[in-house]
Amino acid sequence: MSDARGIVVAIDGPAGAGKSTVARRVAEALGYTLVDTGSLYRASALVAERAGAAVDDRAGVEAAVRTAVARGALRLDAGDAGITRVLVDGDDPGEALRTPAMSMGASAVAAYPGVREALLDAQRAFGRTGGVVLEGRDIGTVVFPTAELKVYLTASAEERARRRCDELRSKGLDADYAVTLSEVRQRDQQDAGRAIAPLREAADAVRVDSSAMEPAAVVDAIVALARARGAV
Ligand code: C5P
Repeated sequence: MSDARGIVVAIDGPAGAGKSTVARRVAEALGYTLVDTGSLYRASALVAERAGAAVDDRAGVEAAVRTAVARGALRLDAGDAGITRVLVDGDDPGEALRTPAMSMGASAVAAYPGVREALLDAQRAFGRTGGVVLEGRDIGTVVFPTAELKVYLTASAEERARRRCDELRSKGLDADYAVTLSEVRQRDQQDAGRAIAPLREAADAVRVDSSAMEPAAVVDAIVALARARGAV
């Protein structure tokens, strides 16, 4: 899979382990393209909502997402400076995808096989040529099982809830620690317990626990691993 453009780096792990920040900085350090695959599931929840499909209406959600992908109304765009972004009906929904409600919606629709299937090609298209960092839940296990470097980035549920609260508050949104912790646990359960592409560590992944690590140290460790696996 690796060629002159570089290797495939897969960063998987539970919500709030610091994947977004770390994946972005790793991609910058290596000069690689970044693909945040969670944004595709968040956008799928938005697409379903706009199509009037309730989140528990599996057939309705799957049809809405399949149609949107086929029409190009839900797609990944190369974006600027190597950071891909998701477009819904031609626009980047931005912060509308990052609300707690959309997090729960994304986690729910991500359990539907038709949704996951519809989003596979978009993810693979960006990784095919190498030189890419993909972050998600099933990159190392399903999307790119042959990725040269697979990192499973995790942290305790309490630490992840604390970080999520800080993130929401820094955006001026309300955040209650107890509620956030229970949402983190519920999402962990939904993501790990679903029948298709559950969140689990690939057998050949490097496990990094970021509970007591600064993001910079995590980034340095992953960049060093990537260079050891052929990234220049
Ligand atoms: O990473 P993020 O929190 O944005 O992901 C939102 C939701 O999308 C996750 O809770 C998970 O259910 C789902 N997801 C997934 N597979 C991925 C990325 C995200 O199932 N590769």
